Amino acid sequence: MKYSLPGRFMKILILFLTLGAALPSTIYGKQEKPGMHYSIEITSDEYKKARVEFSFSVQDSLLHMSSIGANQIPKRWAAFVHDLKAVTEDGNPLKIEDLEGAQWKIHAPKGTQVILSYTIHLDHENYSWSGGVDGAAYAREWGVFYTGRSLFIMNGEKNINLEATFKIPETWKISTPWDQIEKGVNSYSIATQAHLEDSMIFAGKHEEKIIKRDQFELIFVLGGSEIIAQKESFGQLATGIMDYYIELMGGIPNPAPDNAFNKSIVIINSYSGTDGEVIGNNISILLEAGGDQLSQMVGMFIFAHEFFHLWNGKSFAPVNNDCEWFKEGFSNYYTLKSLFHVGYLNRESYLQTLNNLFYKKYDEDDGVGRLSMTDGDQKHEHWGLIYSGGLFAAIAQDMIIRTATKNEKSLDDLMRGLYQKYGGTDQGYSLEEIQSSLSQMSGLDQSAFFESYIQGVQRIPLEDYLNMAGFNASEENGNINISLKKESDLNSSEITNGLFGIN
Ligand SMILES: [Zn+2]
Repeated sequence: MKYSLPGRFMKILILFLTLGAALPSTIYGKQEKPGMHYSIEITSDEYKKARVEFSFSVQDSLLHMSSIGANQIPKRWAAFVHDLKAVTEDGNPLKIEDLEGAQWKIHAPKGTQVILSYTIHLDHENYSWSGGVDGAAYAREWGVFYTGRSLFIMNGEKNINLEATFKIPETWKISTPWDQIEKGVNSYSIATQAHLEDSMIFAGKHEEKIIKRDQFELIFVLGGSEIIAQKESFGQLATGIMDYYIELMGGIPNPAPDNAFNKSIVIINSYSGTDGEVIGNNISILLEAGGDQLSQMVGMFIFAHEFFHLWNGKSFAPVNNDCEWFKEGFSNYYTLKSLFHVGYLNRESYLQTLNNLFYKKYDEDDGVGRLSMTDGDQKHEHWGLIYSGGLFAAIAQDMIIRTATKNEKSLDDLMRGLYQKYGGTDQGYSLEEIQSSLSQMSGLDQSAFFESYIQGVQRIPLEDYLNMAGFNASEENGNINISLKKESDLNSSEITNGLFGIN
């Protein structure tokens, strides 16, 4: 089967894989501040408007929208807010003053019960978005997409136990990553303000597919006839990827207590181009209408990479910025393995992706040979060094461990160990721990490897590590040519299988 990955694929993929930057974690106040309620009304006549009412008790004089995103617009998210008004419980008007960006000052003493009302005009597609409109808000013929950032004005910082109720046309339904308060009613409880801001919502005539494992729900939202027609295959792929990750790790995502979540929403809509973005634990994907198999593959790749971060990134996370190579690169390795596992890649296309995407980006990156991949701040500027370099470090270490232990152990054991140790805690791992765990796994001291390739700036000789297994690999002219050895002993063919995720 012939397979190629043109520039468009790489550009889109690189853009999106870099969007998974960790958001600052917030520690929530222990005290409950009850009574924060949003009601959102969308009508079919004016479906590009969302009328919002927010009732709350004043905590401070600042009303604000998310501080993340919409940086290209002077008024930021407030550019889409119209008819902003506030009244007391008794209906007495309160003065609101415009401040810079998406912020306002409300003239009301602390503790005043306020009903704030405003309308969001869904005009986001009139602007250009560096990360794509999929991280903002957009309308399709079959419904509307909002991020929490685009929709909610907030008061105070660390609120918990919020509620939202939607009023939508009768023939519509709504998908959110929140818990429904009562079956059949579009009311939801939202654990924290971060869950509100980081949410993604779709309202319309879409289809939903929920995949549940233990206490964890993956909510697939599919919009547009082309996408809905592939509902079964999307569902099968996603289920296969999810089961692979759960089996690998030994459980569902187990985040830190202050970032607890039991649902992730993945919203896939047909659109004019292919795009993807992750916010919090949620993923937004646009697939080009009438697009080829490639567009679909980009979508699946984005999904599989971002989804893996619910374990490698959310269930266990580094304490410092010096392990981005591990977070992103090892996620890339398991993304490839998961796509192979579900049959989306075969041996040939897996190896071609390794060269056409990852090796080429590594080879072209002028940070390689000059910067250390522990410099996590450089991950956007030096995708090749950190995302590809991290993947190559993963492959090298997997080959070292498998060879040294006659395939008894592998990188999978490290991933499982980190999940067991840090899942459900607010502790994280360090660079030193990764180094010593890898040394322990193979029984071979990895300090020279780390000194040269991780903390040091030397280029990883990927061919040497692939040749430890049953591959013939050679690096030349900016490419790595990899083929399977014709004759290899049982041990090395088992190690070869390990690269693909067959254990
Ligand atoms: Zn990532």
